[in-house]
Amino acid sequence: MSSVTDFDAIVVGAGPAGAAAALELARAGRSVCLLERGPFPGSKNMYGGVVYGRILDTLIPAWWEEAPVQRWVTRRSTMIMTGDQAVTVDFRNEAWGAAPYNGATAYRPDFDAWLAAKATDAGAVLVCSTTATGLLREGGRVVGVRTDRPDGDLRASVVIACDGVNSFLAKEAGMYPHTDPSNFTVGVKETIGLPREVIDERFGVRGDHGVDIEIIGCTGDVPGGGFVYTNGESLAVGLVLSLPQLAAGDTRPEELLRRMKTHPAIAPLVEGGEVLEYSAHVIPEAGYEMMPELVGDGILVAGDAAAMCLAAGIWLEGVNFAIGSGAEAGRAAARAIGRGDTSSAGLADYRRRLESTFVLADHHRLRAAPHLVMSPLAQQQLPKLACGVLEDLFTVTNPEPKPGLRRIVRRRMKREGVSTREALKQGLRALRTFG
Ligand SMILES: Cc1cc2nc3c(=O)[nH]c(=O)nc-3n(C[C@H](O)[C@H](O)[C@H](O)COP(=O)(O)OP(=O)(O)OC[C@H]3O[C@@H](n4cnc5c(N)ncnc54)[C@H](O)[C@@H]3O)c2cc1C
Repeated sequence: MSSVTDFDAIVVGAGPAGAAAALELARAGRSVCLLERGPFPGSKNMYGGVVYGRILDTLIPAWWEEAPVQRWVTRRSTMIMTGDQAVTVDFRNEAWGAAPYNGATAYRPDFDAWLAAKATDAGAVLVCSTTATGLLREGGRVVGVRTDRPDGDLRASVVIACDGVNSFLAKEAGMYPHTDPSNFTVGVKETIGLPREVIDERFGVRGDHGVDIEIIGCTGDVPGGGFVYTNGESLAVGLVLSLPQLAAGDTRPEELLRRMKTHPAIAPLVEGGEVLEYSAHVIPEAGYEMMPELVGDGILVAGDAAAMCLAAGIWLEGVNFAIGSGAEAGRAAARAIGRGDTSSAGLADYRRRLESTFVLADHHRLRAAPHLVMSPLAQQQLPKLACGVLEDLFTVTNPEPKPGLRRIVRRRMKREGVSTREALKQGLRALRTFG
C-alpha cells in the first residue's frame, strides 16, 4: 500500500454506527473522515422511533441531559390482534422516566446529527452531500473509497463501512454473499401529528413520558408486525413486512397500514391526526444468519451494513446495536493503525470483541427468533388463539355455567387446527429461542 493517505480512517455513513466509529477513532487521536451522502447526518434516515440508550452510558456519560429526545418510554405494550379483537400486555415502569432511563423516542435527523456532532467535536472531519461510490484497492486490500466529488478519491489505512442495510461497500469487498430477499423486511411508517395534550390523554401519560406499542397479527396475509410510538407532538405508526411475501401479493403496504389504523384498538389513538410524513426503509431481518464477513484487509463493517439490527418480535433494536458495533469497529481500527497492521489479521479483534458484547451475544442467542416470529403459528394461529380464549373466558354464558379454562383452550386449539403435540413442540421451540 502507498504510504500516502488522506486520513487514518474513512467511515462511510453518518448514521449511529458511523458516528460512533468516528467518535472512537477521533478520541484515540486518529485522523478520520466521516462521509455522509445526505446534506446532514440523519437527513436520509428513518426508523420506528425508540432509541435504547444504555450503550451510550460509557460513550457519552449523562447523555440524557443533552440528547434530543421526544419522550422517555415508561409504558411498553405488546398487542396481539385479529380482525377486530386485541389482547394487550401493558407494562408501565415509572423508573424508566428518570435517569439513567431505558428507552426514548427521538427523531432521527435530530438524534443522528447530535451523535455525529460528538464525533466532530472530538476531531472527526464530517463531509456531507458526498456519496462513496466504490472502494479503492491495491493488491487485493482496501485502501480508500471513490466518491461522487470531482477528484474525490480518498485514501486511508482503514475503511469502516457503516453505509446501512444492503451495504454495497461490503458487497463490493466480497464480504456479503447473502442477498436472499427472505432475509429482509420492509418498514413503512407514517408520522401523524397530534397535539401533545391529546397524546397524553389517549395514551395515559403525562409530561415527557411516552409509550411504545409493538403489535402482532396486524399485517393480514403478509408476515410482519406493527408499532405505535409517541413523540412529543406526533405518533409514529408503522408496519414491518416480509419483503418477498409483500412482493408476491397484491396488497400495497399503504393499504395494510390503513387497515391497521382502522382497527378498533388503534383507530381511537390516531383519530383526527394529520399525516405529516410517509417513509419506508428495508430492515436486515435475519440478523445473525445473514451477517457478512465483518473484517477484511483494510475494511470493517458495522451496524445495519453488517445486518446487526435485532428484529426479534418483541424487540426491534437497531440503533443501539449500530452504536455498539460502530464503537467497537472504531476502537479496533484505532488499535490496528497504532500497531501499523490494518490487514484482516490486524483488525481481527473487532469480531472477537463484538462476541463478548451484547451485539453478537444477543444476535447469536436469538438467531432463530426471526423465523419463529414470522412463522404461521406466531402470525396467524397465536393471535386467533389468544383472542379466542379470552373471548370465551370473558363472555358470560348465563344461564349456562362457565366453561372451564382447559375446555376453552382445547376447543379453540381444535378450531385453529393446533394439536397439543404441535403446541408443546412450538412452546419448547419458543423457550429454546428466547430462553
Ligand atoms: C421501520 C423501521 C423501524 C425501526 N425501528 C427501530 C427502533 O424503534 N429502534 C431501533 O433501535 N432501531 C429501529 N430500526 C432499526 C434502525 O433504524 C437501524 O438498525 C439503524 O438505523 C442502523 O444504523 P446504521 O448507522 O447502521 O445505518 P443507517 O441508520 O441506515 O445509516 C447509514 C448512513 O449511511 C449513509 N450512506 C449510505 N450509503 C452511503 C454512501 N455510499 N456514501 C455515503 N453515505 C452513505 C446513509 O445516508 C445513512 O446516513 C428500525 C428500522 C426500520 C426500517
